[in-house]
Parts: sequence; structure tokens; C-alpha cells
Amino acid sequence: MLNIVLFGPPGAGKGTQSAKLIHAYQLVHLSTGDIFRANIKGGTELGTLAKSYMDQGQLVPDEVTIRMLESEANKSPDAKGYIFDGFPRTPAQAKALDQFLATKNTSITMMLALEVEEDELRKRLLLRGKDSGRADDIDPAVIQKRIDVYRNETEPVRDFYQEQKKYFGIDGIGSVDEIFERLCAVINSELSPDSYRDQN
Ligand code: ADP
Repeated sequence: MLNIVLFGPPGAGKGTQSAKLIHAYQLVHLSTGDIFRANIKGGTELGTLAKSYMDQGQLVPDEVTIRMLESEANKSPDAKGYIFDGFPRTPAQAKALDQFLATKNTSITMMLALEVEEDELRKRLLLRGKDSGRADDIDPAVIQKRIDVYRNETEPVRDFYQEQKKYFGIDGIGSVDEIFERLCAVINSELSPDSYRDQN
């Protein structure tokens, strides 16, 4: 399997690039943010709980998030691989994901981290808020909170994959197509026949 963690701060372009990568590599897209938003829209109990955290720019508790992610992944048992977008966001989530994939006799192939500086993130998120109407993209205080939460709670996840030698940083500034090419170049180099054999 090809299992990719697409990592990066809010507004780095994970959703945009995931949409292109799933087509190119026939992967299943698992975005915890999208799943939470679908639950909010559907008026589920999970949606109500998630909304109370998301509106504040805070993380939804690990236990809830992990359980939801696993049940969503289990809906695609024949997947050739997954793109995890917005997950894991804490070291506890990263450990849980490794354990979950181990029960399926697979593992994370690589973490691809989109690197974008904070000023650019703030600009992109405010712009997105104007079009998408996403509540968490409208208020500058909530945007800042999400960036801070990323720095404090999510960045340590990078070390988790670095220790496993699975971390790849990618410049997230440029056109959508340019960034996509950079991602594909890393994936393709890691998928050379030798490294692919090692992963499986
Ligand atoms: P962005 O990366 O632009 O912040 P997401 O759609 O990934 O957007 O996430 C939106 C919100 O959903 C987060 O601010 C957080 O409240 C919640 N969320 C998403 N994924 C997770 C996760 N893995 N753990 C905890 N909360 C999450």
C-alpha cells in the first residue's frame, strides 16, 4: 500500500493537493476536517461536539478523532492506499495510526510536509473564508489560534516521522501545479522498485 500523511499548517494547501494526489495514485482521501464538517452539516452528535472545538480553533479530543478516523478507513477495506489529511495532529494520534495500520499489516510510507510561512497562511485563510464561508476561516483570532495550536500541539508529529526516516519537507509556495509536481517527485522517487519492496 501507499499510505501518505500530508502534513502542514492550516492553509498550507493539504486539501487542494490531496484532491490531485488521490487521482494520480488511486488513493482514498481521509480528511478529518472534512469528516467533521460533514457531521456538522448532517446534524449528528459527533458534529455538535466537533463544532464546539472547531469554532474556537482548538483540536477535537484525540479519542473521538481517532475512533472516527478508524471507522472511516474501515469503510474502504480494498483501498490501494490512503492519504491522511489533517491527521495525525498530535503524537497520540500518530501512535494510534501506526497501531491501526499494523493491524492491517501495513504502515505509513511517508509524511509529506507542506512548508508555508505564517504571513502567507493568514492571507490564504482569510481569503478562503470569504468564499467558503467556513466559520473558522473568518475570524482572525480563530485563525491565529489554529496556527498557535499547530505550532504547539501538531508540530511534534513531525519528529515522530523524522525518527522513522519517513519525513519529507516540500516548499508549499508556488502554483498548485508546481507544488503538485514537487510532491509527485518525492513519491515517485520513494516508489522506486527497491524502496517499494522494502515497504511491503
Ligand atoms: P485546516 O487544516 O485548514 O485547519 P481542517 O479542515 O484540517 O482545516 O481542520 C479544521 C478543524 O477541525 C481543526 O481546526 C480542528 O478543530 C478540527 N480537526 C481536524 N482534524 C483534526 C484532528 N486530527 N484532531 C483534532 N481536531 C481536528
